[in-house]
Amino acid sequence: MPTVLVVDDAAFMRMRAGKLLAQHGYQVLEAENGLDALNMYMQHKPDLVLMDITMPVMDGITALKEIRQADPQAKVVMLSAMGQQAMVIESIKAGARDFVVKPYDPGNVMASVRKLIG
Ligand SMILES: [Mg+2]
Repeated sequence: MPTVLVVDDAAFMRMRAGKLLAQHGYQVLEAENGLDALNMYMQHKPDLVLMDITMPVMDGITALKEIRQADPQAKVVMLSAMGQQAMVIESIKAGARDFVVKPYDPGNVMASVRKLIG
């Protein structure tokens, strides 16, 4: 069963994404900031990471870079808000495989997840 790490500082966003992924048969892990995500990634090596951008302690772009440095094969999808186009471009340059705009459509999230890990 593929594992997806959901990273967002908003608990309701983690819950929403986690529920959606669990309904589609994925195992779900959660992290509430970039540093937590980095630690969880190293510990569990999930198949995919859904990464919020704006978070306390460590933002999503920094976490993306750290994760990709530790594991160049890491698959990370950024969850971006409106007006974060520049950060999305920076993320793609840093190795993010895709992005989904928040508030996201469940169909868009699942399409991105399936495209990357089946
Ligand atoms: Mg946030």
